[in-house]
Amino acid sequence: MELVYTHPSHLLVAQARNALERLGIPCVVHNEYAAGAAGELAPIDTWPELWVRRSRDAERARLAIERAQAAIEEADWTCRRCGSESPATFDFCWHCGKPQHGG
Ligand SMILES: [Zn+2]
Repeated sequence: MELVYTHPSHLLVAQARNALERLGIPCVVHNEYAAGAAGELAPIDTWPELWVRRSRDAERARLAIERAQAAIEEADWTCRRCGSESPATFDFCWHCGKPQHGG
């Protein structure tokens, strides 16, 4: 077992777990229900923790989580041709097909 991710936000930890499950990496969340009252940041020792069952998966897991979180944190982008907003994970405007970069 090896700890690969911890964050006070249960949502982010759940998203990290989803990223690992998509890759078929066996993992488990500790402290899932240990947080304090709503709106209150839990002390760090009760943050939800994401562990991989096999230590050899840890490095791959961290990379996958990093990529997943970066995709979430990137803002939507606005097409310079038609003004439509596309998610950061889209390389092309969903509306008119203009590439996000260049063009
Ligand atoms: Zn467009």
